[in-house]
Amino acid sequence: MLTAVYPGSFDPVTCGHLDIIERACRVFDKVIVAVLINPAKEPLFTVQERMEMLAGATRHLEKVDVESFDGLLVDFVRRRDARVILKGLRAISDFDYEFQMASINRKLDPSIETIFMMTSNDYAFLSSSAVKNLARFGGCVRGLVPGNVEAKLKNKFSTDRR
Ligand code: ADP
Repeated sequence: MLTAVYPGSFDPVTCGHLDIIERACRVFDKVIVAVLINPAKEPLFTVQERMEMLAGATRHLEKVDVESFDGLLVDFVRRRDARVILKGLRAISDFDYEFQMASINRKLDPSIETIFMMTSNDYAFLSSSAVKNLARFGGCVRGLVPGNVEAKLKNKFSTDRR
């Protein structure tokens, strides 16, 4: 049983993330999408909201579980009996950081392998923060985020403006 853990903030999940998750389902027996609880960051959505949006967007994918974690990623991966950390790679911007993280995680546990999947061309420049900025100023995010997320974003910013 080959399980991959796909970690991230997912604030919120985008079509770029979903594309990686769908492709990972063709390679792995199980894909655990792990939402990072990071007190240092100020997210737009709560962990609960982010997990709900991920669950909604991956409902058609039987192999996917959505969980949250804090602390060291390698500890979470070990607890889930997984051996693979899955990362999506966008244009050059992700490389430096991901290279560093992969090296640190390998040092912490050499039995866990980080595997990278290249982004699809359509989503090469898509990020959660770009989506949030667009939505904040009333821009259309259709095609950039799953349908359930589009509604949540609209809701969030219209509530905030009241
Ligand atoms: P973001 O940078 O959008 O806030 P996260 O921290 O939630 O994203 O990212 C989780 C993982 O998904 C990381 O491995 C990141 O490189 C990857 N990822 C994010 N956006 C994309 C995309 N558009 N295409 C491929 N991978 C992506």
